[in-house]
Amino acid sequence: MIFHPMDFLIFIALGLAMWAQTKVKGNFEKWSKVQATTGLTGAQVARQLLDREGLSHVKIEYSKSGALSDHYDPTAKTVRLSEPVYQGNSIASLAVAAHEVGHAIQDDSKYGMLVLRHKLFPLANIGSQMAPMLFIGGFLLNLTNLIGIGIALFSAAVLFQVVTLPVEFDASKRAKDKMLELGVITNQEEKGVGNVLNAAALTYVASTLMAILQLVKFIMIFRSRR
Ligand SMILES: [Zn+2]
Repeated sequence: MIFHPMDFLIFIALGLAMWAQTKVKGNFEKWSKVQATTGLTGAQVARQLLDREGLSHVKIEYSKSGALSDHYDPTAKTVRLSEPVYQGNSIASLAVAAHEVGHAIQDDSKYGMLVLRHKLFPLANIGSQMAPMLFIGGFLLNLTNLIGIGIALFSAAVLFQVVTLPVEFDASKRAKDKMLELGVITNQEEKGVGNVLNAAALTYVASTLMAILQLVKFIMIFRSRR
């Protein structure tokens, strides 16, 4: 019970996740030092991309949550950029800003995977909060059904993470394509943009892999108890 065979794989996935985190920071720092030829800031590029897509109503604001807190808020129709991204004119700043615009475009075009992600969110949120308690309670009280409910809820959380992957990959692809179309990056600079965005995508892949492996582990435990 202390060590489950699946823990070995989970440990490897955890290593991958930590490595991906370091890579995100490393790539961001590396490409933060490389200025884009146009000299435009992340906020300016985001504005140009949004306007060109007919999304003039989407606002761009400072994110107050510090570095790498950049996100698109679909409720407020606002792209929030951290200070280095908002003000910076490096390849890294432009890559992150354009990626968040990618999410705004997805929202506007009702991109299927994004719609599904929003629908899954409430259940996934409950799942990730409740599942650990249900598992622990189920084991302590020896209630197998409780573990079963925990697994069902945890599955929703895992599915949410799986659906997040195409959403993130698509936003990055849109970011690169739209920036090239607009001419705010050169073909050489696209490599740097790809570097920054691919590292970020890898962190999502690693954490999803970890969640899937954990789910498999819980299912195996559940089946062996029945
Ligand atoms: Zn994203």
